[in-house]
Amino acid sequence: MQQQTTYGPLTLITPTAAMKASVHGGRAKCLQRLVRLEMPVPVTVALSFDAVHDAAIGNLPDMQKLLGPFGDAPLLSVRPSSQDPDWGGPSAILNVGMNDARLAELTQTIGAEAATKLYLRFVQSYAIHVARLDPDEFYLPDVADAASLKTMLDTFEFETDEPFPQDPAVQLAEVLRSMARAWDGTTARLLRQAKGAPADAGLGLVVQAMALGAGQGECGQGVMQFVDSTSGAPKIIGRYLSASKDHAYDLAPDAEGALYLTRDARGPALEDICPEQYAQLVSYGDICRRRLREEMEIKFTLKDGALQILDAVRVQRSSRASVRIAVALAEDGVIPREEAVMRVQPSALSELLHRQVDPEAKRDVIVGGIAASPGAATGRIVLTAHEAQASAARGEACVLVRRETTPEDIRGMHAAHAVLTMRGGVTSHAAVIGRGIGLPCVVGASDLTIDRKNGVITAPDGRRFKAGDVITVDGSRGQVLAGEPPMLEAALDGAFQTLLEWADDFRDIGVRANADTPADAQTARNFAAEGIGLCRTEHMFFEGDRLGVMREMIFAEESDDRKEVLDRLLPMQRADFQALFEIMAGKNVCVRLFDPPLHEFLPSDKAGMRDLAEQVALPLPVVIERVDALAEYNPMLGMRGVRLGIAIPEIYDMQTRAIFEALVAVGKKGISINVEIMIPLVSAMREVELQKARIAGVANAVRAKNKADFAYRLGVMVETPRAALRAQDIVEHAEFLSFGTNDLTQMTYGLSRDDAGRFMSSYVQQGVYAEDPFHTLDIEGVGELISIGAERGRLGRSDVVLSLCGEHGGDRSAIAFCRAQKFDYISCSPFRVPVARLTAAQLALADRVLR
Ligand code: PEP
Ligand code: MG
Repeated sequence: MQQQTTYGPLTLITPTAAMKASVHGGRAKCLQRLVRLEMPVPVTVALSFDAVHDAAIGNLPDMQKLLGPFGDAPLLSVRPSSQDPDWGGPSAILNVGMNDARLAELTQTIGAEAATKLYLRFVQSYAIHVARLDPDEFYLPDVADAASLKTMLDTFEFETDEPFPQDPAVQLAEVLRSMARAWDGTTARLLRQAKGAPADAGLGLVVQAMALGAGQGECGQGVMQFVDSTSGAPKIIGRYLSASKDHAYDLAPDAEGALYLTRDARGPALEDICPEQYAQLVSYGDICRRRLREEMEIKFTLKDGALQILDAVRVQRSSRASVRIAVALAEDGVIPREEAVMRVQPSALSELLHRQVDPEAKRDVIVGGIAASPGAATGRIVLTAHEAQASAARGEACVLVRRETTPEDIRGMHAAHAVLTMRGGVTSHAAVIGRGIGLPCVVGASDLTIDRKNGVITAPDGRRFKAGDVITVDGSRGQVLAGEPPMLEAALDGAFQTLLEWADDFRDIGVRANADTPADAQTARNFAAEGIGLCRTEHMFFEGDRLGVMREMIFAEESDDRKEVLDRLLPMQRADFQALFEIMAGKNVCVRLFDPPLHEFLPSDKAGMRDLAEQVALPLPVVIERVDALAEYNPMLGMRGVRLGIAIPEIYDMQTRAIFEALVAVGKKGISINVEIMIPLVSAMREVELQKARIAGVANAVRAKNKADFAYRLGVMVETPRAALRAQDIVEHAEFLSFGTNDLTQMTYGLSRDDAGRFMSSYVQQGVYAEDPFHTLDIEGVGELISIGAERGRLGRSDVVLSLCGEHGGDRSAIAFCRAQKFDYISCSPFRVPVARLTAAQLALADRVLR
């Protein structure tokens, strides 16, 4: 039987002591590793999580035993050691043990001023962090002498009615108690929980002998790391503060008089004054990297020329650096590729794909909303799509601010640098388009007021911003900021590509992109999507002068008239598909036939109606009447998708002809495409049967006319609950089923995807829904329908291809769900493709470990 290791409350760190990160914390465990690597670490004792928990409720460990290893005149540092260093902890307290006797001794060795400074600093931090006194009463005096020390000690006594404690055991006991209690404070708990710490996360503490320098040789302290925290490139970075400058021993980042580490033309460096120790440090850095398998920052001191290593912590890093460091560690054989892939947060990739507000920048937040499309952009406020286009024509960056966007705004959105809407949720028009074209977007900023007439928007705090004022949309955080904060550029370097290539070797589910335009397709291709999983063809009709032709088509009363207009649209559609196919050569392209209600193409205001009347040469009242007649009470549940295909078949005829003719045209250039035609909003098998026959007819006509052969596959978009329930008979006519989770969520909940933003936050806050189901796939409900659909689909056709193409496609939980259901692929916005590739690989690798 395996013997259970028992861990006492206090553990002297030696190479063989029983220690574990889950008992003593990451810092304590790391110090033991440094000791095992034979680095000169000062004497250190670790307090377990249990010991610290006991200290918080007043049961302190055996102080004599704790102080034993440190001799008669201890001078100590106490640092936090949480299980994961990223979870933070209370600030370190240094120079514990400093008292009148130590002052007298140190005055002999390091001089009166330096010794007094140490004492002053200790009293200051003890007063503020341990006795919790007013920091304003305990500032460091300009002159460190007996008088200023007396003043500070007197202030302490005045505030606490007790003299400053002289007994190191008493000092240490109070320090331990206060640090233990700080960990239990609400703020500390919320902060660490935000970083993923469990509610009952423990805190360990490490008590270490201060390595104070004194004597003839060089003394001082410093920090050294071996990569740049922003770029991740190899570089020695840090600082060293010689004791001849200051005896602070708690090196501040901006410490005056700090030396360079590496030889530097601008001034003296550690490498010049202590070349041997410098070389030793560099070799320790290398050992840490290879043996601790991580880029570490080393904290060190020189004591009479001898090097001591106080601590090593994981280098803080930007998202960009995290990718480069993981790849470099794997390329150097320090960690396997699998681990490199696991180490990078998928959200870090999404940051790299877009410009971001510098995390250090000050934020003047105007209003918050839903983070609908990541990245940040600055521009002048414009309130109409038309102004956005005019602004782009002048070469001026603009932010399009709308109550909500409609398909009519599409050109304005393309022209804008960012979009902000008052209404809508994560699957609203603005959000979907924003993500599709990589445009930063905040939606549902319902606290904003827009006064279009006067060209003013008003923030919830009453501040007014005029059209033309500069604002910044931070679509990653869901915030709108005044002015132009500093930005970090997107960074798609070699390490990014390498990491994703490795990820592709491990993942077991396909990743395609939702791409509607050649530009989207190019982005998808650049991000190595395996094909297009959803090409929403209706977006093509809002481009250029097609909107006008489209409107003519809608206004045509007879089938022949409609056909005549559609004949004019045909070459345009064919050219669209041809361009798309050329970019996606050799891949799968799934084209969804026309989906939205027709009225979306018609103008909604008087001026637009007047334009339309001119265009179709009809009197204005007739136009208004026709537009009214097309209006539906519930357009999302009305004449759209396959219902249009059945009622006005000429539209799908034109589209399928355009697809097949484009296929023939690119085929002549030697380009092959696995084309898939997808029918939207199906709810009955007969709908598919009818469409299948009609599409086959068009295919045969194109084959005969061009004397060419081609293949295509026909599939169904499952986005009504009925389609999921009837999947078994639907697949009789469909080779693939793609779950459109935007509409499927809308219809399963009976919740409008365009209006849910209004009350979603109260629903989530009150726990009615765990998450916004348009944002995070509702596995319980919508997921159950999907699994029923998948199971029934497979019963009807064992090799049916299954996929998910709603906005959830790039989401971790949706990808995990699709893997579990053994789907063939997911399809998401082009800019989410890299994130999805990495996420899918991580899920597959995590499964391997569990198996
Ligand atoms: C869906 O409904 O999930 C979908 C992908 O289609 P759309 O968003 O275009 O309705
Ligand atoms: Mg849909």
